[in-house]
Amino acid sequence: MPQNLLGYTLAKLTEEFLGRGQSKYRAKQVFGWIYGKKIYDFDAMTDISKDFREVLKRDYCIKLPTIYTKQEAKDGTIKVLLEMEDGAKVESVLMPYNYGDAICVSSQVGCNMGCAFCASGLLRKERNLTAAEMMGEVLVMNGLLAEFGRHVTHIDVMGTGEPFDNYDNVLDFIKIANDPFALAIGARHITVSTCGLCPGIKAYGKEGIQINLALSLHAPNDEIRQQIMPIAKAYPFEKLIPALQEYSADSGRRLTFEYIMLKDLNDTLDCAKELVALIRDNHLFAYVNLIPYNEVKEKPYRRSDKTRVRAFADYLLKNGINCTVRKEFGGDIDAACGQLRSKQVGGKL
Ligand code: SF4
Repeated sequence: MPQNLLGYTLAKLTEEFLGRGQSKYRAKQVFGWIYGKKIYDFDAMTDISKDFREVLKRDYCIKLPTIYTKQEAKDGTIKVLLEMEDGAKVESVLMPYNYGDAICVSSQVGCNMGCAFCASGLLRKERNLTAAEMMGEVLVMNGLLAEFGRHVTHIDVMGTGEPFDNYDNVLDFIKIANDPFALAIGARHITVSTCGLCPGIKAYGKEGIQINLALSLHAPNDEIRQQIMPIAKAYPFEKLIPALQEYSADSGRRLTFEYIMLKDLNDTLDCAKELVALIRDNHLFAYVNLIPYNEVKEKPYRRSDKTRVRAFADYLLKNGINCTVRKEFGGDIDAACGQLRSKQVGGKL
């Protein structure tokens, strides 16, 4: 079966082509066509010998997912449901910030982590996405933005799926995205978000890359966290905190804590106090991103009042914890992560 070139890091492709008797330069040349000139047809790669183009056509392909459904919000948010070659469907979302265009990439078809508030996890994991499929999500979005002279400038691996449950493919994908000969997206413009798989957090810190790590914290103590995130039973704070400390020591990077504000559950001033203590007492180098909840009507959770969110943020800031409230996108479309897919594919609520 032809291998999709979108899943190759430059190092892997160079090695592969060297094994076929090609020059060291050949992989860079092909990268230049794909990512620089956006040419996905081997016959158009005119500076590659005809013989090798035949080899490329026989053994490789450059395949992007197809758009199954597309929604566009008034604020410019684009949400697509993409269909992979085997019919699997995944969601990608483009959020237009004033500093650039950020894509939220899915890393798995469905998710097994079972977070209680999440629409993405309504459908169990069917399989991991390959690095090529994740790159396909970005290239499809770039195709949609091209007519406006824009392209994806930031990547968040924060869509459906747990990235560290698909570690190798996600690492290859972000390396290709970051490669100056591929998408050349700066490491600090790429974020991988985990729900708290400790082995993955520790391994990621040792990769020697500058790409951001976000942790979906969502609670300041085990009691609330275990109520809404089953992963917290396998990795309670006594395991999670040392993993985060190890990550910080190895990478020297600041962490982002994602914190979805759920009315009367984790949004009280007591929770804010506990969160400050958690970060301070454990000497965690982290900033907190408070996320207004996009309600999923069949789930029991409701979004916090704006005043509650503001008070929570103010308390953190007053106590020296860096904190922002995430801008909201796509209010007039299926805004919650995974909502579009579960509607189309049929999730059990
Ligand atoms: S929040 Fe993320 S990890 Fe949790 S169920 Fe949803 S997609 Fe999976």
